[in-house]
Amino acid sequence: MSIWYNHVRTRIRLKALVDNYRLIRTRATNPAPVIKSDAYGHGLPEAAAALFAAGARTMAAGTVGEAAVLKDTVPEVEVISLLGPLDTADYACVCERDIVAFVGSTEQLLLLEEAARLAGTTVRVALKFDTGMARLGFAVDEAAGVADTLDGLEHVRATMACSHLATADDPGQAEYAQEQGGRFARILKALHARGLDVRASLANSGAIFGHPALHHDLQRPGIALYGANPFHGTPWEAKGHGLQPAMQVSSRLVQIRTIPAGQSVSYGRTFTAPAEMRIGIVAVGYADNYSRGLSAKAQMLIHGKRVPVLGRVCMQLTAVDLSHVPEAAAGDEIFMLGGAGPAAISAEELAGWWGTITYEVFCLLGQNPREYVD
Ligand SMILES: *Cc1c(COP(=O)(O)O)cnc(C)c1O
Repeated sequence: MSIWYNHVRTRIRLKALVDNYRLIRTRATNPAPVIKSDAYGHGLPEAAAALFAAGARTMAAGTVGEAAVLKDTVPEVEVISLLGPLDTADYACVCERDIVAFVGSTEQLLLLEEAARLAGTTVRVALKFDTGMARLGFAVDEAAGVADTLDGLEHVRATMACSHLATADDPGQAEYAQEQGGRFARILKALHARGLDVRASLANSGAIFGHPALHHDLQRPGIALYGANPFHGTPWEAKGHGLQPAMQVSSRLVQIRTIPAGQSVSYGRTFTAPAEMRIGIVAVGYADNYSRGLSAKAQMLIHGKRVPVLGRVCMQLTAVDLSHVPEAAAGDEIFMLGGAGPAAISAEELAGWWGTITYEVFCLLGQNPREYVD
């Protein structure tokens, strides 16, 4: 976490993470939790320890640096780095810490060979192929060539072959996921024909719940672990039912005031009270990663009731309409995400007001000071 100067608190329920992991295990044979970006804002060390206790023995971090922290937290776990090595320090770290790095270019293979030779070790890698993201990875038709390159290396051993899906969470683009699956199958065939004994991994959360034919040997669930339904708002929504949110975010009401009809609220005067009204000033703003884009769009939850944001979100303050919550008092807790009761604010809803996805909501709000509850 990096925001230390505020009143916002991000509360994480590790039991929800564990329950989500167990639910995923009823769908997939061998899920390796993805805990990159500080476990999507939920806290890498805490999430990793809880998932290890629940039985996870392979986990995926983002950068090599994160993978090293993961190794420190749970030394018994097989650790994958999804981003792979970028600089000299990364190459050395991968070799010294026995991290299985995603590698998607011949240059990386050669640099790893050299680093592993210097370290006097053999390093395992996950071969990363681009089957349709156009991001990182070897091209589909490079598979045989990669096997040839590996034949010439003494210190690098491929243990996995991986690719990533662009549309697994969109039933309307299921065909594209299947096409990527077809390309991945061709890659595996080429690698196996060269005698490479690699585990295959393609599925993210969307594919775990929506594309059982693409599960292969090892699955990589991220967002589902953190309780967001990958199919929210789509015809496949029911496939992701049962996942529980693990993150709640709240702050305090700093002050309550009554403003007269005609009084505008906050910068730019984008809201004007139509009649005398009771408003609350909340200690949260865009400096706490509560986006200014939520101005006049979002709702918060106080005493189990929804209240709309009035006018613009400021750096550390935001106004809400308390007309219908007479019991609210200064100092009360108010939720931006989650909260108790049927009116709790879901990550999907907050993401909708924000104009983004649940992933970004978690990564950003998770940077506030965190507390762990069970
Ligand atoms: C982030 C990531 C995942 C997890 O994706 P979700 O959609 O969150 O399940 C899996 N694989 C790779 C390579 C990733 O970068």
